[in-house]
Amino acid sequence: MRSQPPRRRAAPWGDVLDPSQSLRGKRDIGIRFGKIEAVDADIPTARALRVLNADGKLVTPGLVDLHVHVYPYGSALGIPADEVVAQQCTTTCVSAGDAGANNFAGFRRHIVAQTRTRLYAFVHIANIGLAGFPVAELYNIDFAQTDAAAKAIAENSDIVLGAKVRMSDNIIAKHGLEPLKRAIAACEQAGDGMKVMCHIGGVETRQLMSQILDLLRPGDILTHCYSGFPNLAGDFTNIVQDGKLLPAALAAKQRGVIFDVGHGGGSFDYTVAEAAIAQGTPPDTISSDIHAVSGNTPGMPYLTWVMSKFMGLGFTLEQVVAMATINPAKVINRAPKIGTLQMGAPGDVAIMELVEGPVSFVDTRNNKRDGKVYLLLMTRRRPRGVSDGFQRTAITGECPLWVISGHSGIAIAMSALSPSQTFVGVSGMSA
Ligand SMILES: [Zn+2]
Repeated sequence: MRSQPPRRRAAPWGDVLDPSQSLRGKRDIGIRFGKIEAVDADIPTARALRVLNADGKLVTPGLVDLHVHVYPYGSALGIPADEVVAQQCTTTCVSAGDAGANNFAGFRRHIVAQTRTRLYAFVHIANIGLAGFPVAELYNIDFAQTDAAAKAIAENSDIVLGAKVRMSDNIIAKHGLEPLKRAIAACEQAGDGMKVMCHIGGVETRQLMSQILDLLRPGDILTHCYSGFPNLAGDFTNIVQDGKLLPAALAAKQRGVIFDVGHGGGSFDYTVAEAAIAQGTPPDTISSDIHAVSGNTPGMPYLTWVMSKFMGLGFTLEQVVAMATINPAKVINRAPKIGTLQMGAPGDVAIMELVEGPVSFVDTRNNKRDGKVYLLLMTRRRPRGVSDGFQRTAITGECPLWVISGHSGIAIAMSALSPSQTFVGVSGMSA
């Protein structure tokens, strides 16, 4: 029950927030040739070829989602990255192991090459990636071919960040630490700086969770870090056990393992998150784990909605925007100036509304929490060019948005124009 109607925060201008440069305030943004050319208090509209009025809106760098499934037709749960732009403001996405060594070339040629959203990926340690979903990819450990994964990682190191491995017992059965060991070995064979993205959920034993955490190296990513998913025996073997954070989890955090949310359809539990955060392991990155299944679950794991949940957990707007822009951009560490509005950065801009008002959230285990503020996307239009043949994700009134991206609309719109005239402003002024 809403005791009072939600209220748009009333800034009558474009309220620009860029944690990468501690910027917050009324600004106009100029984009030319797909790059940020000006961020000033006042850009004369006469300079602009086209002005997008952002009065009353929150304007941030285009959001960066470190964990998504964006290999439609290839990963059995993939959705097109360009379609979730309109539902979660993402201009950069990372495929979390949709493809393995056997089908990564297909992902690269048929998806990355034809997608406007900037894509990066982890190569799955299983050579079939997630093509077999919902059949577990590592019940048969022979799918985890270290040499083949290492080769795929090394050959695609411009867009590949490392290896993905899913370590829950519903994926690896009783293979213990072996899949993670192979993923780490593949990264080490492939070259410097390759990272493991390690999915956790319920694992076979309580001790195994600590052993998994102990193997992760600084810079590796622990995704689904606040999962409260029980193991196959029904036991809770998560990073919080009996209300206490595992010492191995705190130690992992302290040596630089990245704690990534990866909400998804089954991997975010408020009771785990609250205890883990209170005991020293806040998230480094907020990611959605959006895919054709999770998008239709009650937790609505769209990135902006997950960010809103973390505001409800006490994080500031600045913190949650950092966790979905500059923080994951640092993990990606491939192209300069992703997740920022600094001069010369790609012209990736997200426009949202910050709404103050009572709001209810639910996690993936039916725990409910109330909040006082949330992010609303600017439009609720369905994207054009919706393809068929895959399950539509839910579009709710609470989620959708609008993005200006150097990879999306604007750069494309500008390309037909005279270069000397191609200046687009995101204006904080009334038109
Ligand atoms: Zn996932």
